[in-house]
Amino acid sequence: MKKYSIGIDLGGTKILAGLVNTETGEVLTSVKKKTQGNESIMEKISEAVEKTICESQITPSEISSIGIGAAGQVDRDKRILVHAPNLNCFNLKLGEILENQFKIPVFAGNDVEVATIGEITFGNGVGFKNLVCIFVGTGVGSGILCNGKIYSGVSGTAGEIGHIIIDSGGRPCGCGGNGCLEAYASRTAIEKRIIGSIKKGHSSVISKFLTENGSIKSKHIKRALELNDEIVFNAITEASEYLSNGIASIINFYNPELIILGGGLIEAVDFFYDITVKKAHAKSLAMPSAGTKITRTGLKDFSGLLGAALLEKYYAQEFK
Ligand SMILES: [Zn+2]
Repeated sequence: MKKYSIGIDLGGTKILAGLVNTETGEVLTSVKKKTQGNESIMEKISEAVEKTICESQITPSEISSIGIGAAGQVDRDKRILVHAPNLNCFNLKLGEILENQFKIPVFAGNDVEVATIGEITFGNGVGFKNLVCIFVGTGVGSGILCNGKIYSGVSGTAGEIGHIIIDSGGRPCGCGGNGCLEAYASRTAIEKRIIGSIKKGHSSVISKFLTENGSIKSKHIKRALELNDEIVFNAITEASEYLSNGIASIINFYNPELIILGGGLIEAVDFFYDITVKKAHAKSLAMPSAGTKITRTGLKDFSGLLGAALLEKYYAQEFK
């Protein structure tokens, strides 16, 4: 197997692609693109791959595979993104299209499952056999490691922690249901709560940081908290309350050795991470709580990209 692979992390708001040395975990080049805009998602993914190859100055013949982790339900065998609620995508033939274009074998998986592969190979999950990676972003997703192997479930969709129903008939969710965890604890939910309060006439320092499409950067949430902004403080505190319910439920249900938390807000906003961890331990049963460590990702923004680049190796080991 050649040592270079391209990894693509297809999230709800951005595509991150990069060339990875799969032996060392070094990311040689990386390219970021927003998912919003006029071009189709497929065109953007293709462009990101093209730019990665171009910037890395490595010929396609030296690249072993392209791996892609997508935020949604993925058919790994057919390499199709079956449904991505946050991207409004159905039946996207990732494998076929990219293979035809670049003549490099393509592997696909769910974004957080792939990030989990990144973390267990080069991140904070190295050496653990039973863990759960939980990522908070546009949605809330998780990847499960069980006895040293990724657990994908019967239909391959295990780990959809974001769609655990926490409020019967509650807030609408991108999946079409109501009351799902991610409608309360995701970054999108936090933004909606802050913007809703501003629209009601409450003043917040965040007003001047709002982007055109109404999204809020993690660094601005951090800054608003430093300035004791009440609206942002309330939104973050509420989200941590719900997120810690979800994490405590996972600790009680699965009793893992380790939970790895990731995503922009978790990485950038210490207050959000700290209170969520504290509450998760306080709410879970004493025995599993004592046995479960909680930490942040070791690879930060690159967990998904690295894991995606490692998909070929992971599948080769899994099925040898
Ligand atoms: Zn849902």
